[in-house]
Amino acid sequence: METLDMNSPMLNTTEEIREPWLTTKLEMIVNWGRKNSLWPLPFGVACCAIEFMSLMTCRYDFSRFGAEAMRFSPRQSDLMLVLGTITNKQAAVLRRIFAQMSEPKWVISVGACASSGGVYRTYATLQGIDRVIPVDVYIPGCPPRPEAIIKGTIELQEKMMKEGFKARAANLDLFYKSMERQQTLEETGMTSQQALQLMFREAAAAGQSRIW
Ligand code: SF4
Repeated sequence: METLDMNSPMLNTTEEIREPWLTTKLEMIVNWGRKNSLWPLPFGVACCAIEFMSLMTCRYDFSRFGAEAMRFSPRQSDLMLVLGTITNKQAAVLRRIFAQMSEPKWVISVGACASSGGVYRTYATLQGIDRVIPVDVYIPGCPPRPEAIIKGTIELQEKMMKEGFKARAANLDLFYKSMERQQTLEETGMTSQQALQLMFREAAAAGQSRIW
């Protein structure tokens, strides 16, 4: 079989073309960078947070997914992991911390309590954090094992690779509009909790369970 000599003067190739190169979409390469450099903020309030502590040990090695740089400052984080039962009183705190995080940002709801209130079907417990903030991935379990959190993170990374910049921005716009509404209500003298309760009532009147 004849072998092609790339240096042959018969081939009309320039030096630049012989260098290795590739083509891709900007969204794809940016998303690839984002998915491999997540900075998690653990919002740990109950037993699910203990599973997260295991996840960060060398046995499970969360670093493999480029997400080991854990931060407790929202300004330095772009992945919120909600781990545990969120009460109605905590909902406003959760929203404020999410609002302060760097953009673009993502949320994983870890465990039954964060996703749906879990076994706490009571007036004091928020029946799912997606009522107050946008959620990207839900992880079932009570508590989910560290492997389940790893699976959830992989699901998020796959979602990030398919995501367009505009879709993510539109999702956050809805949330910021609801924050503006909350601030307007608080300026009338309401506490953040009272403002959220009123927003829940308004959403229910419109046939919705989410306030954003
Ligand atoms: S889902 Fe289960 S383990 Fe997790 S916070 Fe709720 S009760 Fe605790």
